[in-house]
Amino acid sequence: MNPAVTASAPSAPSAPSAPTARLQELWIEILRRIEPQIQRMPFVTWFRDTAALSCDQGTLVVGLPLPMFLSWHIEHYRSLTLQCAKEFDPQIQQVVYKVDVGLKDNRDRTIDLLEYFPEPKRRKLPGRQEVKLGEGLVSKMLNLHYTLENFVVGSMNRLAHAACMAVAMQPGGKYNPLFIYGGVGLGKTHLLQGTGNAVLKQRPQAAILYTTSEVFTNEVVEAHRHNRWEQLRNRYRRVDVLIIDDIQFIAGKERTQEEFFHTFNTLYEERKQIIISADHPPRELQLEARLNSRFERGMIADVGVPDYETRLAILTEKVAEYQLFIDRSVLEFIAEHVTRNVRELEGILMQAVALYELEQRMPTVKSIAEILCRLSKDPYAEEEKVGFLLPPKRAITFQDVLEKVSSYYSVSLQEMTGQSRVRQILIPRQIAMYLARKHLDVGLTRIGELFGNRDHTTVMNAVAKIEERLQNDHLLLREVRAVEQELWVTK
Ligand code: ADP
Ligand code: MG
Repeated sequence: MNPAVTASAPSAPSAPSAPTARLQELWIEILRRIEPQIQRMPFVTWFRDTAALSCDQGTLVVGLPLPMFLSWHIEHYRSLTLQCAKEFDPQIQQVVYKVDVGLKDNRDRTIDLLEYFPEPKRRKLPGRQEVKLGEGLVSKMLNLHYTLENFVVGSMNRLAHAACMAVAMQPGGKYNPLFIYGGVGLGKTHLLQGTGNAVLKQRPQAAILYTTSEVFTNEVVEAHRHNRWEQLRNRYRRVDVLIIDDIQFIAGKERTQEEFFHTFNTLYEERKQIIISADHPPRELQLEARLNSRFERGMIADVGVPDYETRLAILTEKVAEYQLFIDRSVLEFIAEHVTRNVRELEGILMQAVALYELEQRMPTVKSIAEILCRLSKDPYAEEEKVGFLLPPKRAITFQDVLEKVSSYYSVSLQEMTGQSRVRQILIPRQIAMYLARKHLDVGLTRIGELFGNRDHTTVMNAVAKIEERLQNDHLLLREVRAVEQELWVTK
């Protein structure tokens, strides 16, 4: 036994004992070296409630609060942890892990990660790059996070992506202007910024200006008010690549359209690249005809709503990018139910991560289903929207149906398949038959057999009866949906 442990015990109960304090300091020093090397989110996720449990004879034992941390740490952080530990104390030769659930939320034994490593003050323009345009002018920034490489390509955006690649290779070439259109959250901004970044990578000196049509409009208004046209023109007409996002907002703004028209012409004549996005194709934007005809000189490509495979690929990409650990079945569930656009897809993923960070709950199909429900005021309306009661893809068994119905209505399994015709038992039995018919790939005869050797006409009548009642009985509808939801989300 280590005498230091017993010696320090009696004082303030919450104060860590001397060796614990020493180990905490050691761990903080190591974390200080780890933190800058990984992204914020995984750092907080995977290092919260961890601790150095011991450090003897060159072996550092790291305590993890949950079993599921183990493989993740071994796979992703062991060598980094060892490297950082060695930097601090060259004696340390190996890192081993020990799962200790007592570490969870135990501030005596762990450090308050967020206190020692607070959220960095909103760094000025995180991950963005300023581009000097001469005469002290600086462009709106590109977000380096958006690249053409991390844009997931599917049939709905292949052409747009290819056009962006071509432009990146040869700005001011064949595809000028490049016009990308499509609905909200489908990746237009990502593509535009990714193209800007790609050009910049190959030509670090290039002046690339990314802006939105709203910003441009404001600048025109300001220029007009203070009579500072010269400045505006210097800014916009000297770039190598002009990127204007969401051009639709200049509809109806004559002065802005006019200024843009001249800017466009100047750049175009000098073979500078122009990239534009909008929510609709040029002809539907109600812009001046002369602008439309300019846009149509170049390349027009749309981005559409991603299909299931692409949604799943996008989720997989984001998960890898953020170094998250989320089960594939959860990703599949999200991909299946969040169908409208990519921004929503990302949003749900982030919610899942938040849930995990706040409550240390691993995202499951069930928790995602809850999030989807919570996101809408009327959970049933949202179910319709996200299609969350669609028949599940994974096979449900007869036993599942029986168990869920029996537990929902507190009717025993024997009663479910028994002969009683008491209403409290009959209705759940009929519901179970209905659900079996709806969700299992079995015929009426087989269902009859499973329900205590009943005739297939009995099953048929039961199914018909429930179907009929569901038309008018909202209470029953909710009950059946609740059971379906259970069946679906807990599979
Ligand atoms: P839009 O400008 O069309 O409204 P965004 O470009 O802002 O849409 O996209 C919304 C979010 O979805 C962004 O975070 C973007 O990175 C992501 N996104 C959209 N499409 C894709 C894709 N094909 N691959 C990867 N991420 C995508
Ligand atoms: Mg956008």
